Amino acid sequence: MKNLSIDDQKRLIDKIVIDYPDLRNPLELHIMILQAQEEIRNDPKKGTSLSWEDKSLIEDLQKKVHKSNQPIAKFLNPSIFDSRALINTCKRIVKALIEKGVEEDLLKRFLDELVSERISILDTAGAALRGDVEYFENHGKRLGTNPVLILFIASALIQPCLEEIAKKVDASFLEKWWQALCPICGRRPTTARLKARKRYLICPLCGAEYLADIFLCVNCGNVDPATLRFLSPEGYPEFRVDFCEKCKHYLKVIDEDKLKRPIPKGFEDIITIDLDIMANNAGLKRI
Ligand SMILES: [Zn+2]
Ligand SMILES: [Zn+2]
Repeated sequence: MKNLSIDDQKRLIDKIVIDYPDLRNPLELHIMILQAQEEIRNDPKKGTSLSWEDKSLIEDLQKKVHKSNQPIAKFLNPSIFDSRALINTCKRIVKALIEKGVEEDLLKRFLDELVSERISILDTAGAALRGDVEYFENHGKRLGTNPVLILFIASALIQPCLEEIAKKVDASFLEKWWQALCPICGRRPTTARLKARKRYLICPLCGAEYLADIFLCVNCGNVDPATLRFLSPEGYPEFRVDFCEKCKHYLKVIDEDKLKRPIPKGFEDIITIDLDIMANNAGLKRI
């Protein structure tokens, strides 16, 4: 979804819904989240006080990654975020989730705590930057809300900023990372694109496509080719599932060279839902 306006994105999604009618529901939620993020997406600073046009800022972040081997998000201070824009966006995301059938009371409770500042929105953004699962589990337990849902909402708040960074980093930065977790935000990929036989892992949060060895289990780090295998769905040579015999987890792979119609950035996971069913039937676990 690089460099597309929100209207272009909507048109694109309308077209995808026609191509994949069975996926209407998840695709509709996807566009509702994009719409909820509109204020931050339209802001050149992406809901922060920083100018991402500043090349030295990106270079400085890349240097920190090289030195520490930690993803860029670890070096972003949550105080860069504009709490008002984050709260507004949060309200719109909660509304979208409720419209899609998520239980209202539990989500409202979480939102009320943010609006009344009982939970700091910047702390929540910071926890999402660090991928701090414990933070979301603690609040989830206290509020009786699914922690995964709170993490989803918080991640959506910082997503436009992380996507912007992913667009601005050097291509060589993404080619040389060579590890399982995203170099921008530290998330674990569930999909990848194969280009000229090179496997680019796709970050589910910032959309970064970064190169990693084809013989690497992104779940457990196994690099033994004898225990890294793949499954292909019959009649769909453009898709396959790479899996690890040691941990039984899998990665969904889209072969760009064999793809009949392009899959836009950001839609890889939704459009390959059939691969999850195939992998599940084979006794494999989703990352
Ligand atoms: Zn990422
Ligand atoms: Zn594994």
